[in-house]
Amino acid sequence: MNDFSRLTVGVLALQGDFEAHLRQVALVGARGVAIRLPQQLAEISALIIPGGESTTMNLLIDRFGLREPLMMFGHSKPIWGTCAGMIMLSSTIEDNQSGVQPLGLLDISVRRNGYGRQVFSFEEPVQVRINEIETTVTATFIRAPLIMSYGQGVQPLATYQRTPVLVRQNYVMASSFHTELDDDTTLLRLFLSNFLLGSPVRG
Ligand code: GLN
Repeated sequence: MNDFSRLTVGVLALQGDFEAHLRQVALVGARGVAIRLPQQLAEISALIIPGGESTTMNLLIDRFGLREPLMMFGHSKPIWGTCAGMIMLSSTIEDNQSGVQPLGLLDISVRRNGYGRQVFSFEEPVQVRINEIETTVTATFIRAPLIMSYGQGVQPLATYQRTPVLVRQNYVMASSFHTELDDDTTLLRLFLSNFLLGSPVRG
């Protein structure tokens, strides 16, 4: 088990389920910071963009002056986006009638609510493979984005129904699903240990 006690991990706290992520950050022993101001990005070594509603998050990112700072952060430090966070990290949103402007940090094209509007939420075990480590996590899909296509630089780390649901490109990771709703911190530990501590080890 890695020691995460020296890490300061930010969670974008404009909207959505940021509290669940902050709770998991505390569970693994790292210091969590609720990020609302651009200058707070200087004190963290990794950022999580939570699930929520990407249309609202998009508006608030501009209102809080966070768009450029988030893009700069993503070019040099690890970011993990879950669900709406994945939508924000993407480069293209299909049928984009909502006006959400993605940050373009991850070369994927997504469809919002791509698993069907009628399916509000479901849970599935998915197999994650990252730096030779294989493990299973319980993935909760809540009006999740569907990855329609991805660029060559993007590596799928988990698939569900033959579609990637967890991907990485350099130090940006995104999951269509949630794992922060219970006490299973497996994916958070994998993110911190493989993206931040740089060691390909089980978190
Ligand atoms: N459907 C939401 C959106 O499009 C995402 C849902 C979620 O984050 N759980 O922004």
